[in-house]
Amino acid sequence: MKIDILTLFPEMFTGVLGSSILKKAEEKAAVSYSLANFRQFSDNKHHTVDDYPYGGGAGMVIKPQPIFDAVSHLTEQTDTKPRIILLCPQGKRFDQRKAEELAKEQHLIFICGHYEGYDERIREHLVTDEISIGDYVLTGGELGAMVVIDSVVRLLPGVLGNEDSPIHDSFSTGLLEHPHYTRPADFRGMKVPDVLLSGNHAKIADWRKEQSLKRTRERRPDLLE
Ligand code: SAM
Repeated sequence: MKIDILTLFPEMFTGVLGSSILKKAEEKAAVSYSLANFRQFSDNKHHTVDDYPYGGGAGMVIKPQPIFDAVSHLTEQTDTKPRIILLCPQGKRFDQRKAEELAKEQHLIFICGHYEGYDERIREHLVTDEISIGDYVLTGGELGAMVVIDSVVRLLPGVLGNEDSPIHDSFSTGLLEHPHYTRPADFRGMKVPDVLLSGNHAKIADWRKEQSLKRTRERRPDLLE
């Protein structure tokens, strides 16, 4: 998978893309990341990317020209038909299903906004997906893009080892995952459930399924509906 990120703050991604699983995924050639500051595509001599809103009001609006030209530049270099993703609080709320859908693609382009918002023509005529990471407002799209990229890249084949396989994760099964315990079996009087120490794999599987259902019923009944 190729991931292009258009942002005014490429330096924000260094720690996240350069650490842990996201870094290993690139080392294993499962993904390649590329960051571009869309200010470099501005066609005016001051390299501005925003302007006052028509009709007045507070805040600045990202102009269409730098974004359209940056996306053209990225799509001219490839035969793939990328998903062009706009991070915005008005988009469809991101979830595991969307992560699974995006993990099947070959090329993703993320557009990270800032300021008051985007010129509406970017939404209407350029992007394929508008994604929100939740019902709250961030200062920019960068954190949202990182959230989406993290959840997508860990699903790419070969990125996680068998032991961390994502198929049992919360939401992948439609339920929340069962509780986990590790050594010691007795920590300051707090004990691990006997069944997990029994060595009976069928019983352990039943217990986990039961716990998973119980937890989902208590915490996220909407998932069962
Ligand atoms: N005025 C906009 C509104 O009310 O919908 C909010 C703009 S916000 C201050 C600036 C940028 O942050 C957005 O253009 C978007 O890129 C990003 N952003 C803010 N909240 C977000 C969210 N919940 N999910 C994804 N991106 C978000």
